[in-house]
Amino acid sequence: MRLRAGDIPRIPDVVVYPGDESEVQLIVDRVVAANAVLIPFGGGSNISGSLEAPPDETRTVVSIDLGRLNRVLEIDNDSGLATIQAGTLGPDVERQLGEHGWTLGHFPDSFTHSTLGGWVATRSSGMQSDKYGDIADITRGLRAVMPGKVLVVRPLPHTSTGPSVREMILGSEGRLGVITEVTVQVHRIPEKRLILGYLFPSWDAGLAGMQEISTSDAHPSITRVSDARETSFSFATRKKSTGIPISSLVSKGLMKVLERRGWDLEQVCLSFIGYEGGAAHVRRQKAIVKDIVGKHGGIVVGKGPGQLYDQKKFDTPYIRDYLLDRGAAADVSETAAPWSKLKPLYDNTMAAANKAFAQLGVTGWIMCHLSHSYHSGACLYFTFAFRHDGVDPLGQYDLVKSAIQQAFVDSGGTLSHHHAVGTEHAAWLEQDISAPGVHMIDGLFAAMDPGQNLNPGKIIAK
Ligand SMILES: Cc1cc2nc3c(=O)[nH]c(=O)nc-3n(C[C@H](O)[C@H](O)[C@H](O)COP(=O)(O)OP(=O)(O)OC[C@H]3O[C@@H](n4cnc5c(N)ncnc54)[C@H](O)[C@@H]3O)c2cc1C
Repeated sequence: MRLRAGDIPRIPDVVVYPGDESEVQLIVDRVVAANAVLIPFGGGSNISGSLEAPPDETRTVVSIDLGRLNRVLEIDNDSGLATIQAGTLGPDVERQLGEHGWTLGHFPDSFTHSTLGGWVATRSSGMQSDKYGDIADITRGLRAVMPGKVLVVRPLPHTSTGPSVREMILGSEGRLGVITEVTVQVHRIPEKRLILGYLFPSWDAGLAGMQEISTSDAHPSITRVSDARETSFSFATRKKSTGIPISSLVSKGLMKVLERRGWDLEQVCLSFIGYEGGAAHVRRQKAIVKDIVGKHGGIVVGKGPGQLYDQKKFDTPYIRDYLLDRGAAADVSETAAPWSKLKPLYDNTMAAANKAFAQLGVTGWIMCHLSHSYHSGACLYFTFAFRHDGVDPLGQYDLVKSAIQQAFVDSGGTLSHHHAVGTEHAAWLEQDISAPGVHMIDGLFAAMDPGQNLNPGKIIAK
């Protein structure tokens, strides 16, 4: 929105492209000696303000682009570990690992434009995280250049050395140094990969189904269910609407069956469950899930919607630019909360966003899906858009975004499940981790970077 308004914020003065770790060290040391500011740049896909220099920064701002550090350095075939340079983009990670029969299994929606170092620095999650874990689980070791030194975290399956230095670097958003290498756990490319579509009669039924799957003997790679609004959005086609949002994709016979069962077709929720592994393993998981879905009133609709999802998954975000060109503001906010708090959190967030739209007098849209499941809870991912007044689009955006974020923390959720803190979410940090938690992080940053040369103003706004 700022770019479209011709309002160019404080941009970096210098961009540097180091070719190896020793050059990274040289740059870090010179930046600190010159009292300049260093902002590590991976793929540039962060959406929480993590890459922006403070608007009033008077010192020289250096952007260090890790793009030349783009190789898989070593694979430990015995242990299922790979050491990969931090600037490697998602497709290059998978291509290089794939040549040796391995996969990382980390596929964020930004996969094509984000890097391993960026994932680590923001505590990213991929869509198959139910099976492979979030990047915090996947990362076993790393190297990070700090002023005058290199931090080495050796790859270990587990350690009782605490507090965890590895965890301090995870999500550090460039504030503790530049990550140059990451040792990650990798998996053999699965024999079979399948995504099936399911329909639930309501959002409540969908959430209950996902919860039961998460604690069952089935361990799918993807568990995802959209609310009724997102379901109708997903099924919207260029064809003239028939009034029944799902009718274009599922057969008329199926619609009749659903109506006979008493389904309100406006409340239908689309779900995708992904399976990976050997054929027998996939078969067994499918059977367990089918029973659970049935128990919650849902049905299997087969591979078609799953294939559609697989094809479209990296494309949908581009709709943001389409909307921006037409005077609409659009963004996403996501959170995670325990299962017991998920439905009230959803209701509160919807109410808060709709109240903000009403306050602004704008027509708004908000929809949601559950995207990652855990033993004790899940991630809810909200997408919202509204037509702004053209006078104060950013002010209007802030009001809606803040209402959503506040509803998250007030309802027992975190400020973000996988988009990091940056500057956008920093206002909610204390409510998320308590004042002593903020004090601990502040102390860490102050000790490691007393001159505030390393990406200042992120996570803790000062
Ligand atoms: C369309 C879209 C979809 C998205 N979907 C997802 C998703 O599904 N899951 C998800 O987790 N995120 C998602 N994101 C958010 C974003 O992709 C993640 O935050 C990602 O991890 C950022 O990686 P990057 O390489 O682009 O890092 P950048 O955006 O370049 O940087 C992010 C932060 O990390 C720091 N950083 C980057 N590299 C290093 C390094 N080597 N050392 C130290 N600090 C470093 C930067 O200074 C900055 O603070 C999405 C974003 C978009 C635009």
